[in-house]
Amino acid sequence: MSKRVLITGAAGFLGSHLCDRFVKDGYHVIAMDNLITGRLSNLEHLFPLENFEFYHQDVSKFIHVPGKLDYILHFASPASPIDYLKIPIQTLKVGSLGIHNCLGLAREKNARVLIASTSEVYGDPEVHPQTEDYCGNVNPIGPRGVYDEAKRFQEAMTMAYHTYHGVETRIARIFNTYGPRMRLNDGRVLPAFIGQSLRGEDLTIFGDGSQTRSFCYVDDLIEGLVRLLFSDYSLPVNIGNPDEITIGDFAEEIIKLTGTSQKVVYQDLPENDPKQRQPDIKKAKEILNWTPEYDRKEGLKLTYAYFKSLTKEELFLKDHNNFEDYIN
Ligand code: UDP
Repeated sequence: MSKRVLITGAAGFLGSHLCDRFVKDGYHVIAMDNLITGRLSNLEHLFPLENFEFYHQDVSKFIHVPGKLDYILHFASPASPIDYLKIPIQTLKVGSLGIHNCLGLAREKNARVLIASTSEVYGDPEVHPQTEDYCGNVNPIGPRGVYDEAKRFQEAMTMAYHTYHGVETRIARIFNTYGPRMRLNDGRVLPAFIGQSLRGEDLTIFGDGSQTRSFCYVDDLIEGLVRLLFSDYSLPVNIGNPDEITIGDFAEEIIKLTGTSQKVVYQDLPENDPKQRQPDIKKAKEILNWTPEYDRKEGLKLTYAYFKSLTKEELFLKDHNNFEDYIN
């Protein structure tokens, strides 16, 4: 009998790539999503398969999954600043009630849990690059607080289930990741810049563009997550690409890639926007024997090809998500 894996947030960007990977590797995949920010179109190609099933369910409410479960990957959460500013309470709930439900289920099924944590646990970091032992600089009541603190709580709850109940747990601190299936209008910088180029709009740089990020191509990230899941390491591990770039230079790269004749325009920097971010991936290298393989040029080419394949309606659609269907 094949191993069974539950993936929450399965219809999202990372969740759907995880479904692909586990289906391809012969697992029985149980995908769960409430579709607030996820899209079924990300999973459409898997529906005909026998080793794939989908539950339209909110993981912040009681979850029941019949049969055995070997692994649970908790990837449900709004993950872009625009999303979690619009649905702050849902964001806090999925990081707290959602992980509590997943850990309870894991305990019951004797399953191993991997959680999607984030570089946001480091907040606006005073240590650079960020190592896993850095405790972070987070403003709990700032606009990003709902996301950052939910993820920090999620780590605390996961460790508590590990130490108190002996549940097997893995914690991935995921840094900025990009690739096909990102939502065009989720506010993240890469889809924002590419979308603007394709629509013939100017590229909006927030602040003076001197803030930095380090972008990891999605296939590399998924490989790192899989290795972490199958490792025996229960403390947090950074997964990301340390190749750091300023947002200003990143805009130039996108202009070159897309050949747009538009220019950059400057807008206000959002409150608590981290000034710099780069993962220290020594641990991932040592423990998982993992390093990212795609360089940005290669990854951006593949990502641009995806965005170019979208229809005109999709390109001009302002919002893909279903916030109005949900109340907190
Ligand atoms: N950003 C920008 N223009 C945009 C969207 C984002 O300059 O249209 C900036 C944003 O202020 C941040 C960086 O790009 O400094 C990365 O933003 P994103 O939302 O992608 O990720 P995060 O801030 O969560 O790392």
